[in-house]
Amino acid sequence: MITHSPEETMALGADLAKKIKPGTIICLYGDLGAGKTTLVRGLAKGLRLKIDEVHSPTFTLLNIYESKGRRSLYHFDLYRLAKPEEIELLGYEEFLYGNAITVIEWPDRLGELLPKKYLKIELLHSAETEREIVIKEC
Ligand code: ADP
Ligand code: MG
Repeated sequence: MITHSPEETMALGADLAKKIKPGTIICLYGDLGAGKTTLVRGLAKGLRLKIDEVHSPTFTLLNIYESKGRRSLYHFDLYRLAKPEEIELLGYEEFLYGNAITVIEWPDRLGELLPKKYLKIELLHSAETEREIVIKEC
């Protein structure tokens, strides 16, 4: 798919949030500025979680968004993860295998800890406000 604005990317995320099953793990691939966090904002919106609380967790490995009666969203940003073992200390895998939707930015940092089954979303910065977005089941 191609989006032409951050709003369109958010709308795509919101739409996706309504289609995916509880417990889905989404791995987001793409360079800095590709629109990964923008897509996460859309997912939060689709799950009717407060989107103003979703910011780029630059210094946080995990942000949890939840609201009573709604499906939770776990947002990992592993950009600063030096080695996969660091995340095991956080109880990483316990977050993955529940009913929440889990989104992982920079999943390549996980090495061997990459989940076995996930939805792969690749974002490509194709022009100033244009992004190519490819979704695949892995
Ligand atoms: P990442 O998390 O991949 O580093 P962000 O979502 O934080 O990227 O930032 C994407 C930036 O690109 C934002 O400043 C956003 O406004 C801008 N942008 C421009 N066009 C788009 C688009 N079509 N989709 C998503 N973001 C876009
Ligand atoms: Mg980001």
